[in-house]
Amino acid sequence: MICAYCGKEAKGTKEHIISCGILDLFPECFVTIDSERIKVHQGDPIVKDVCADCNNNRISYIDSYAKAFIEKYFLKKYLKDDELNIEYDYTMIQKMCLKYAFNDLRSRKKDISFFNDTIINFLLNQTETEALRNVTILAGLAVNTSPVPDSFLGNLKLRWSLKFLTNMYCHIFLDLTAYNYY
Ligand SMILES: [Zn+2]
Repeated sequence: MICAYCGKEAKGTKEHIISCGILDLFPECFVTIDSERIKVHQGDPIVKDVCADCNNNRISYIDSYAKAFIEKYFLKKYLKDDELNIEYDYTMIQKMCLKYAFNDLRSRKKDISFFNDTIINFLLNQTETEALRNVTILAGLAVNTSPVPDSFLGNLKLRWSLKFLTNMYCHIFLDLTAYNYY
């Protein structure tokens, strides 16, 4: 197998599309709904084309940041009129979104041509702290006020989608939604 990150020939390991540390923050969301393959399964969504070194060492700093960020802001109960100030590292948020998007697109065998050497090196190098100019992140806080139960909607606490991805520019809409069902 050729590693999707470093490009070296190596044995593939199981790389979580969203790290299990983050998934574990939402124990009530234990089912994966794969609408493309029309399947529901209990295992976490994974890809198997990442070498052990990349998975465990080189890109794990992104998951560490992502977990701390999500744990800090998205497990709280927010009310309709709440205002939220978020401290964030824009470069790390870019890396987090790009990594998830890259993993997700590979798992669905979609076009990954956007993820060229520049983007991959950006993800692999923790010391690369300058934000990419061709990647935009838009984010917001959404509070659900509907009476519809959580299970009916699926896990809307952590979502992302690539609405616009070209060979040159990537606009990611990060929809980290805090829903209140207790
Ligand atoms: Zn690798």
